[in-house]
Amino acid sequence: MPEDQWTTHDFKVKMLDWSAARGSRLAYMCRRCGRGFSRFSMLSHGVWAIDSEGRALESAVSNQWLAEVCPGVIRENDDKDRKRLRDMAAQ
Ligand SMILES: [Zn+2]
Repeated sequence: MPEDQWTTHDFKVKMLDWSAARGSRLAYMCRRCGRGFSRFSMLSHGVWAIDSEGRALESAVSNQWLAEVCPGVIRENDDKDRKRLRDMAAQ
């Protein structure tokens, strides 16, 4: 994860759920741009973008959001990206 981009967001963090194998699944929601990311606390599964309900988005969206610095405002385009849920069956 590009640390510089990550730190430009103003995250509030909450725990979505917990499993013995993977630890806490954490949601990071930015107060400024509204973008959400998720990761596990224990294992290094990387970071992925999520919608407001904590559902994983397509990796294209994850890659784009992780590569960008915080837009600072809520972007209209993000609403479209937030509908691009990752196909859970394909995982
Ligand atoms: Zn942000």
